[in-house]
Amino acid sequence: MTGSRGVQVNSSFDVIVIGGGIAGVSIAYELAEHRSVAIVERESTLAFHTTGRSAATFLESYGNSTVRAITRASRDFFLSPPDFVDGPLIADLPLLIVANDTEVPGLREQYRTVHGPAASTIELVDGASAEALNPMLRPGYTALAMVDYGSLELDVHGLHQGYLRGLRQRGGVVKRSAGVVAARREGSLWVLTDAAGNEHRACTVVNAAGAWCDEVATTFGAAPIGIAPLRRTAFMVPAPRDLPSASASAVNRTMTAVNRTMTAVNRTMTMSASEDFYFKPDGAGFLCSPADETLTMPSDAKPDDLEIARAIERLNEATLLAVRSVSASWAGLRSFTVDRSPAVGPDPTVDGLFWFAGQGGYGIQMAPALARAGASLLAAGDLPDNLLATGVTAAGLAPDRSALAA
Ligand SMILES: Cc1cc2nc3c(=O)[nH]c(=O)nc-3n(C[C@H](O)[C@H](O)[C@H](O)COP(=O)(O)OP(=O)(O)OC[C@H]3O[C@@H](n4cnc5c(N)ncnc54)[C@H](O)[C@@H]3O)c2cc1C
Repeated sequence: MTGSRGVQVNSSFDVIVIGGGIAGVSIAYELAEHRSVAIVERESTLAFHTTGRSAATFLESYGNSTVRAITRASRDFFLSPPDFVDGPLIADLPLLIVANDTEVPGLREQYRTVHGPAASTIELVDGASAEALNPMLRPGYTALAMVDYGSLELDVHGLHQGYLRGLRQRGGVVKRSAGVVAARREGSLWVLTDAAGNEHRACTVVNAAGAWCDEVATTFGAAPIGIAPLRRTAFMVPAPRDLPSASASAVNRTMTAVNRTMTAVNRTMTMSASEDFYFKPDGAGFLCSPADETLTMPSDAKPDDLEIARAIERLNEATLLAVRSVSASWAGLRSFTVDRSPAVGPDPTVDGLFWFAGQGGYGIQMAPALARAGASLLAAGDLPDNLLATGVTAAGLAPDRSALAA
């Protein structure tokens, strides 16, 4: 059966994207504007791995300068999502980074790094102001805090489903339970074989396999680029019975600090300056994390009980959460390159293999701009102008950049 673009529908595509997490669905959507595209995903459910396990935040002051620029370039998408996304994707959730006495110098340094004209929603506040913004902080714990009033909570499921809907509207195809185990050349095509023995053909293959990106690359005869899957644990705790509430003055400050209409904010994503815990309100309880980074083999990651115990100790020292029990826990793999910027671009030696890897701890918040960057690099060999204007370059994302050399 032959489709309108002259390719065999359901068997041969212009592009096959390996991986159905946020990386895979977002770049597949962008590429499907001008190409026939299929996603092949090993699991029977999409977003089963890291994408389905995130803290769902958008933090423009988090990550290195490349990550921050790509995140900022994604902001408009989240504020005004395209039609294929169902409903709003955001809620206000200022980021509050709290420092105790020993962490103050580190926080001042962090502020110097991230503050600037492009990040005008960020300011330093004293301990009392931090406690007014987040009444769950233990009085007297915080010596200094950095607030980013522009941070947001994201609807990850809505974003992922939106991209899938958009992909299907553009004629894209999704193949589940199709883990790629082998690849061979057939003329100008790649022929991928999945674990069930089915074959999938495409001119170009996008490697968006998250923690498995290096493993997938070797299937194509490409050299790994040193993707490090770092496990991060998260857990839920019940809210304490008498929940203090944010003061009106804190809410008013928050509302005037950001140049857009906000509903009253009395919630924050609160993180320690040493990044050894964070917590945010979630439903009837709080989502907490030890912010652990343990090097792990690509796998279905499991939470680390020792890290949870360590985080509970820190949370009880710094907050009024009075954590005694954990109602649920999970873990996911945040996969980093050695310089912690994503790796996006053609493989330097293997024809028709394109990397879309190393989304680290920022794959949701960077998704819109990174997907457009990946599609533009694949189609035209360079980044979109709006990203180039921020100082991000194709060379800085290239999978063969010198920083990633072994
Ligand atoms: C606890 C935690 C909190 C986080 N919080 C945030 C946050 O607040 N904001 C943010 O932006 N980011 C956050 N992140 C990071 C974010 O979740 C990741 O950057 C993002 O989900 C990575 O998406 P991905 O598509 O690259 O990977 P994945 O979602 O893991 O998708 C990769 C897919 O590839 C598939 N695959 C692998 N090998 C094959 C194969 N051979 N054949 C077919 N399919 C294959 C896998 O099955 C998987 O579904 C967090 C992560 C964790 C763990």
